[in-house]
Amino acid sequence: MSATPNLASALNHPIFKTISKAASQLNLESYVIGGYVRDYILKRGDAKDIDIVAVGSGIDLANKVADLLPGRTKVSVYKNFGTAMIKSGEIELEFVGARKESYQRDSRKPAVENGTLEDDQNRRDFTINALAISLSDTNYGQLLDPFGGIDDIKNKIIRTPLDPDITYSDDPLRMLRAIRFATQLNFSIERKSLDAITRNAERINIISKERIVDEIHKILAASKPSTGFALLHKTGLLPYIFPELVALEGIEEKEGQKHKDNFWHTLEVVDNIAQTTDNLWLRWAALLHDIGKAPTKRFDKKGGWTFHAHEFVGSKMVYKLFKRLKMPLNEKMKFVQKMVLMSSRPIVLASDVTDSAVRRLVFDAGDYVDDLMTLCEADITTKNPKRFQKYHNNFKKVREKIVEVEERDHVRNFQPPVSGEEIMKTFGLKPSREIGIIKEAIKEAILEGEIPNEYEAAKEFMLKKAAEINLSPIE
Ligand code: ATP
Repeated sequence: MSATPNLASALNHPIFKTISKAASQLNLESYVIGGYVRDYILKRGDAKDIDIVAVGSGIDLANKVADLLPGRTKVSVYKNFGTAMIKSGEIELEFVGARKESYQRDSRKPAVENGTLEDDQNRRDFTINALAISLSDTNYGQLLDPFGGIDDIKNKIIRTPLDPDITYSDDPLRMLRAIRFATQLNFSIERKSLDAITRNAERINIISKERIVDEIHKILAASKPSTGFALLHKTGLLPYIFPELVALEGIEEKEGQKHKDNFWHTLEVVDNIAQTTDNLWLRWAALLHDIGKAPTKRFDKKGGWTFHAHEFVGSKMVYKLFKRLKMPLNEKMKFVQKMVLMSSRPIVLASDVTDSAVRRLVFDAGDYVDDLMTLCEADITTKNPKRFQKYHNNFKKVREKIVEVEERDHVRNFQPPVSGEEIMKTFGLKPSREIGIIKEAIKEAILEGEIPNEYEAAKEFMLKKAAEINLSPIE
């Protein structure tokens, strides 16, 4: 970068004048830096998180800004980190004193000392994140771009300000951040950086699972998540995070029969689903829907390649994977498990869409039946246009049938039309096996379409079923 443009246009929000005034009263320099500047130049919409660097105490600057803002403004001070936070309307301001960092090999927590703006820019992860805009009176709005970040934005390149081997080894989280930014922004990672990530991949082990998952969430939330997973694969990071996905890679051939490469297929499915839903957990389900295929893969002369019960095995693996990555083992995980477990169901019934099969599908999937259909549609990755169309048409029929069956039979979130209580009363029974038998028989009859999902019909059926097992009503 030669000329340093003025970017005062990035500072339209009145908060910047307030910060500038506070800094000048304290007689220190201040800058807006990092993601806010990057996203302004990228026109990614107004960022709400704004990072401010003070050459001096960030905490003093935050307190001064709070004094100048109308009303009472709370300053959250994090003494250990030398940072302070202010919320003003929608905006979150984070203040930090300019610092110089030095790292130990076994930790991503550096030793810190006060420094200049340049020192602070040096510690930033990427050139595009090291851009700063001055808030000082003398050069208000001036862009400080020591590493050519503007050019890198133009050329869509992720590059580190310093030697990438040092940058990534110092703080291995940056390897994931590089891949995440490349995915979110559709940038490429500079060759030197890619090589350094590959060399340092094993150091990801010192990063907490929570931080890793945070970056994975962001990759999954991007419009083309496969970019990130392909980079994780290429750099050798994937085995440390998702060995289950690595195991899906490759095509085996036996006696002239091949199966598809389930890793690259999975990435296509994730991209497909990213086009139809923002539901992060459904995207997780797409990522994991085939993980049971590696441990269940078999070949036999008659059937060729099979992955028997891979959905069941896969859903068990989801639990282990979530646990290993310290993700919450809550209803989100159960949702992903359910999607994986049921992921082949609509495919099985698509060729012959009967009412009873659809009722069973809706009964088992409950409120998630639409999500399940979305997953199955994303799972169609055939390159044969005729087949592609045929599968989509089949699923369209299934979706129509779901609506039709639902309107008529209401089996979603099924409530038995005759309660266990009523069965006990009618036959003078205590809680016992018979009640379960009758309830199950009623449910089956409804799902099979033998009787409608209505009280009178169910009651009549109950009496008939009871008679079969020698029960008679008490009055
Ligand atoms: P996003 O909000 O999309 O995550 P961001 O760049 O604002 O993007 P933050 O994590 O809020 O991300 O970080 C703010 C700034 O702090 C970054 O722009 C970068 O300059 C710096 N930074 C954050 N994490 C690191 C890191 N691990 N190593 C070096 N610099 C970092």
